[in-house]
Amino acid sequence: MSSALSIRVRGIVQGVGFRPFVYRLAQAHKLAGWVLNGEEGVQIFLEGESARLDAFLRDLRVQAPPAARIAEVEATKVEPEGFRDFTIRESERRDRPTVRISPDLPVCEECVTELFDPSNPRHHYPYINCTNCGPRYSVILSLPYDRCNTTMKSWPLDEYCNAEYHDPANRRFHAQPVACPVCGPNFILREENQPDVAGQAAIEKSASLLRAGSILAVKGLGGYHLACDARNAASVEALRARKFRKEKPFAVMVRDLAIARDLVHLDPQAEALLSSNPRPIVLAPARIELAGVAPDNCELGLMLPYTPLHYLLFAAGAPEVLVMTSANRSSEPIAYEDDAALEYLAQIADAFLIGERPIARRVDDSVARVGALGPAVLRRSRGYAPGAVAQLPSKRPILAVGPDLKNTITLVVDGQAFVSQHVGDLSHYEAFRAFRETIQDLVEMYEVPWDDLLIAYDAHPQYASTTHALELPAAQKLAVQHHRAHVSSVLAEKSEWKARVIGVSFDGTGYGDDGSIWGGEIFLGSVAAGFQRVAHLHPAALPGGDAAAQFPVQAAAGFLAQIDDLPDLSQPPFNFPDRFRSSLELVQKNVRTFPTTSVGRLFDTAAALIGFTRPISYEGQAAIWLEQLARAATNLDSYALPFSENLLDWRPALSAILQDRTRGRGSAEIARAFQRGIALGLADALRSLAETHVVDRVVLSGGVFQNELLLEDIRSLVEASRLCIWTNSAVPPNDGGVSLGQAAIAVFHNP
Ligand code: ZN
Ligand code: FE
Repeated sequence: MSSALSIRVRGIVQGVGFRPFVYRLAQAHKLAGWVLNGEEGVQIFLEGESARLDAFLRDLRVQAPPAARIAEVEATKVEPEGFRDFTIRESERRDRPTVRISPDLPVCEECVTELFDPSNPRHHYPYINCTNCGPRYSVILSLPYDRCNTTMKSWPLDEYCNAEYHDPANRRFHAQPVACPVCGPNFILREENQPDVAGQAAIEKSASLLRAGSILAVKGLGGYHLACDARNAASVEALRARKFRKEKPFAVMVRDLAIARDLVHLDPQAEALLSSNPRPIVLAPARIELAGVAPDNCELGLMLPYTPLHYLLFAAGAPEVLVMTSANRSSEPIAYEDDAALEYLAQIADAFLIGERPIARRVDDSVARVGALGPAVLRRSRGYAPGAVAQLPSKRPILAVGPDLKNTITLVVDGQAFVSQHVGDLSHYEAFRAFRETIQDLVEMYEVPWDDLLIAYDAHPQYASTTHALELPAAQKLAVQHHRAHVSSVLAEKSEWKARVIGVSFDGTGYGDDGSIWGGEIFLGSVAAGFQRVAHLHPAALPGGDAAAQFPVQAAAGFLAQIDDLPDLSQPPFNFPDRFRSSLELVQKNVRTFPTTSVGRLFDTAAALIGFTRPISYEGQAAIWLEQLARAATNLDSYALPFSENLLDWRPALSAILQDRTRGRGSAEIARAFQRGIALGLADALRSLAETHVVDRVVLSGGVFQNELLLEDIRSLVEASRLCIWTNSAVPPNDGGVSLGQAAIAVFHNP
């Protein structure tokens, strides 16, 4: 007795080997029918014995290809049509594509086995891939995802690859970037005054150069890396000097998990994150110090190999721990085009390992950690982007362009929110160019007509993202306040539109409703009803405005101006440079000075008082320094940040730091007491607000909440009072998550 099912599978099911998988599964269960890529995912028609149909449905979920993410399986009983066999049908495409573009994938185990099998035609071939693995977003030029629309279009398949490509039983069936050493691109090593070396010889020579201490520019999936031996202090120092990167930590790539375990403390969750498909850089507590790799930091960021090339380099004898940092100068975006990289990196790299396959777009490595409140993504890029992170209740397409720092953009199509890769700091020309391209790219890929779009942008009138948003040809536009967007990003991840929450945004900077610099805000409300600011940090002044973020002592002047009996801070133990005095004068004369409630700047002030008096060399450095210092202390006291009249007052805490420093208390203990004071002050504020407004849920978002120690303190304090805390997990709590929050607000508050 034959029955039939019509099945629709939604999720990441295209470009991940799903149809061949369905084909094989149908064969295995002796079922007839067809499969095709439909407009809304994969469509299957199946007929056969009903017990076999049930078994098929069960295996469909359990055995799906590793890169697939099944969101939903919808099976409806239909009349059998008398099919005799099972076929893969051509893609159906009518309107605009709503299927998701898969993020890039790490090389799979089967391909790695072939890579090292001398009898395999792709032995030692650095571009080996299959439908379960390899590049996606970084090679796609346009949709549909077919080879002619990828950066592989200039390499026609030879007979061998072509046969695999057309064989439904093969794991390379319709693997768009498939290639072999005969028909495909390869790697070339270029050194000054030396002839180019290609293929395996290039990889072996590169490994020996790395062993000898050289710095190499290595082409990866989404851009160039600069690589050197992480255990060779002289190489690491040379890299810092040539890259003009004084102190910002470098990430490392380790040969395998065993080496990772030697370097850092890894719990099972962190190991899972490290080995997960996006292969992010994972921050974990260091066991040993690698000189110069992560100065003043007790964490180390590390990742596992993810391209065949990485495996080949390690197998060819490259040092087992490599610094692998985005190839750029200082904080500019990662280089990804060959000519630009060769020119731009000539002063930094001793040699170039150049892959011939072009990169369609820049995609940096992602950064994640297992935090106090679960896994958190701090930079969402390669391996994650441009995946959907949330489902928004919007039929209308929305483009949210993000803020100017740590920029990402979000495009909402048919309610699905796709968040772009990390674009970076838009004050760099290259990043701004990438910003414009990313917008164009996503809007075109999803074929969203501009006149349908609702555009959301940051309320900051001077942001480059704002100016650009206002120039775009969309019908409707909406300015969104920065910190409300932070809070909404958490609620968007959870699809909690009506949940009434206390939303806390502790952040570095953001344009407030009153035009002042916000960053210590507490809201009440919901995404649907809007957020009202109900409390905030006691205001300080910020001489020089946002530029003060570069100089902790300059930020300090704006806070310390309110402290009575200020000692002479140019003297020990403070040793503040002259900039402090001149900034204090600006504050006193009220020249170029702006009101602020930024918790980020409060951290800078505390850091300056505890000893960080130099300019920072990367965003958030002083606060990170303070957190690391506090981790070394075990004292349990805290400085008071009383909450009254809806203000969180930092003045008693700063006075206490001044006194403790003057009487010679250790800087680590002071840092610890300050951090715990912030947590206690916030916990008091939350308890009081929760009682007044009868709310039991708290949302925490904003750059300050990347501080793990602070989160741990807050969690233990707040959870004791039965308040439930929600934080970001899919998008960063820093400004990388703002575009998602903007999009969510736009759904409910469109003009
Ligand atoms: Zn593979
Ligand atoms: Fe922010």
